[in-house]
Amino acid sequence: MQTRRAHLLKLAAFAAAPLAGRLAAQTADELFRRNIGSPDQFNKAFPPHRVIGNIYYVGSESLSSFLFVTPQGNILLNSCFEATVPVIRTSVEKLGFKFSDIKILLGSHAHADHMQGDALVKELTRAQVMAMEQDVPALMKITPENKPHPLDKTLHDGEEVKLGGTTLVAHLTAGHTRGCTTWTTKAQEGGKTYDVVIIGSVGVNPGYKLVNNSETPDIAGEYMRSFKLLRSLPCDVPLGSHPSMYNMAAKYAKLGQSPNPFIDPDGYTRELDVQEHAFLQKLEEQKKAAGV
Ligand SMILES: [Zn+2]
Repeated sequence: MQTRRAHLLKLAAFAAAPLAGRLAAQTADELFRRNIGSPDQFNKAFPPHRVIGNIYYVGSESLSSFLFVTPQGNILLNSCFEATVPVIRTSVEKLGFKFSDIKILLGSHAHADHMQGDALVKELTRAQVMAMEQDVPALMKITPENKPHPLDKTLHDGEEVKLGGTTLVAHLTAGHTRGCTTWTTKAQEGGKTYDVVIIGSVGVNPGYKLVNNSETPDIAGEYMRSFKLLRSLPCDVPLGSHPSMYNMAAKYAKLGQSPNPFIDPDGYTRELDVQEHAFLQKLEEQKKAAGV
């Protein structure tokens, strides 16, 4: 286990390394734009595909939605915007599954681009909607066309969601939202078991206050605990609430090759390095500006 100081030194070395030797360091604003993409990508279907084991991608070009297929019905992670729901539905059906077989609906975090469509998915499938307790207040404010946000079960950090032999574990990775959730599960392929991590988000959006935040005084501490937790998770297959968090398009282009291109443990560490570097840079900037 490396010390905090060693870790900070590593990040400093990462920042100082010549450009050719590493990925170009991106700022938090650049990562936000990378993640969200352009508005025309929100509801534009990306070809649905099997990621690994029983996990399928059914989201758009810039908003991830995953389907976990089990013999007892399916789990959907992220309804995205309400306008994305028909795109997700078509993708589910293109893969040969029934939208009405979705029994459980989960989310990455209480922002409209991931969970605004919950009411519509619930209406179409009668799925049980589950969400992390710390995200419930923000979620209740997401009410497209004044539809109340559905919630059938409140989840707590570390809680397992099980259906038909598949187990998803909800990890609280707060900061981006109070109840931002990183999901982990295991996928079987070719006689092997792989650890899958679906990052909720550790991005610092434009306008976020990391210093002197009266609503969430310890927001910087929440982010730091989340980075620490994420680094402690075993990960073979990194996924995320936005496809650019795991280079989906480039991996999709290699689909069918062996080994499965979505197996990318180094990509997981790299993404955390890039995100943590951007977070620390933003924190320093805001501390300097606030004179603390
Ligand atoms: Zn978000």
